[in-house]
Amino acid sequence: MLWHPHTMRFATLVTVALLLTPLWGQPQRHVVIVDLDGVRRDLLDTPYLAGRMPQLERLFGSSAAGQGFSRALYFEQATTVAPSVTMSGQASLYTGAYPGAHGVPGDTWFDRDQGVGVDYFTSAGVTCVFDFPLFGASGCGGGLANRNLNSSTLYEWASLAGVSSVVVYNPYWKGATHAILPSVLDALALLQSGTQDFEYFDRDMAARAIAELREHGRPDLLTLYFVGADLAGHAAGTRATMDYLSRVVDPLLGTFFDALDQIDPDWQSNTLFVFSSDHGRTDTSATPELRLAMNWR
Ligand SMILES: [Zn+2]
Repeated sequence: MLWHPHTMRFATLVTVALLLTPLWGQPQRHVVIVDLDGVRRDLLDTPYLAGRMPQLERLFGSSAAGQGFSRALYFEQATTVAPSVTMSGQASLYTGAYPGAHGVPGDTWFDRDQGVGVDYFTSAGVTCVFDFPLFGASGCGGGLANRNLNSSTLYEWASLAGVSSVVVYNPYWKGATHAILPSVLDALALLQSGTQDFEYFDRDMAARAIAELREHGRPDLLTLYFVGADLAGHAAGTRATMDYLSRVVDPLLGTFFDALDQIDPDWQSNTLFVFSSDHGRTDTSATPELRLAMNWR
């Protein structure tokens, strides 16, 4: 069994869709984790059921007449961890542990052992997360957030079971057979608020994933990390998240499926797709108190 028992608890956060084909007894079996950052369950359901994600219908089944998920298994009760922020939630997805156990209690936190503050979303922080020491930063080797983990990752468990893994652009890849990391410019795009910036991140991620598969074949486990939906939500709210899923993520998924058609014509019968997110999003109006709280640093 691929999954560490505790991992499923968090791997089901928003929607888990399985391609409902025989899962056992196949000569090959592949798992693709599609990690959609900051996508509350209904933010994926709404554009899908409205027919605005036609590529996703290739996996989940037709959304005609507002019905969907005919080819998918769907978890309704899954929830995120606290705090419901990216670096804690992503760590829980790939360790199966709560933040108090895996060691990443937030996007920013104070490391009492080292006596230093940790902030993953500064220029130096985000590049350090992706193994690149900018501005003389130290402690970036292997990725800053990976180094902060106290728990084993899914990839380490997979490796012990002889299962190969490739992680594309996710901030956590400890133990993976191979990690494809964003360029410094792609990493810095995570700090920008322009739509083009996070589109570049996701487009580059998908292109490099496809290039990897063309060059080296399919790994047993592949993680695709789409960050743009969360950043679109930060910039313009949940409607923007849904628009982004429809306009950018769905066509990129289509490109990926088309590439699989060429690389492995049997992919639809030998692949388990897992869709999940790290946390959701709630629209609020920016009160003066909220502005004050958000600008505390
Ligand atoms: Zn997130």
